[in-house]
Amino acid sequence: MDMRKKALEVDKRLNFAFGEELEPGKRDLIHELIHAVLSQNTSRNNYELAYSRLVSEFPDVEDLAAAPVPAIEAAIRPGGLSKQKAVVISGILTSLKEKRGDFSLEFLRDLKTETAREFLTSLNGVGPKTASVVLMFGDGRQVMPVDTHVLRISRRIGLIGPSTTAEKAELELERILPPSSRARMHLNLVRLGREICRARGPEHEACPLNMLCEYYENK
Ligand code: SF4
Repeated sequence: MDMRKKALEVDKRLNFAFGEELEPGKRDLIHELIHAVLSQNTSRNNYELAYSRLVSEFPDVEDLAAAPVPAIEAAIRPGGLSKQKAVVISGILTSLKEKRGDFSLEFLRDLKTETAREFLTSLNGVGPKTASVVLMFGDGRQVMPVDTHVLRISRRIGLIGPSTTAEKAELELERILPPSSRARMHLNLVRLGREICRARGPEHEACPLNMLCEYYENK
């Protein structure tokens, strides 16, 4: 099957099964970025707790930027990898102040997606996935962040090659998916990955994509 047709079929089936849709962003973009850093490599409960502790300890981003790394680390401890993430958050704020003179990222809303992505990835510790998460959740952009679920499932069903990297996968998926499908497909794939197509013990029989899946076909 042609890859674009297959991607549309995946989108259609997931939408029928789950119907996840992108909701309007609730945070300013700097907080969206901090939230995205905290969400890396941990469960949703852990990172939401870490985020709410951080904003209650440092409601003002200027105070957070002035805080020593150990104080940030203590606030986000329940989120896991707290030392590493505290260094990244502190580094982002320092680098933003150097580049822009303040701690706001709201100017990104007026930029083209590629330019906004370039700026975000120029900040210390911000990779392509984190940049896309910020642009998608914070500004409603039609991009395709590739997290562990999206990467695993896209490889299994054969939308990308078995050894395609996350960075390359993002470009390939954006190439074959129309903009209107990208954010929705990201959300639906994440849900599929959490509930059905888990890394271990995927439930093929219950999966809405089993008729399209190379991994299942070759089992
Ligand atoms: S059929 Fe199985 S391997 Fe394929 S997407 Fe569904 S759960 Fe994952």
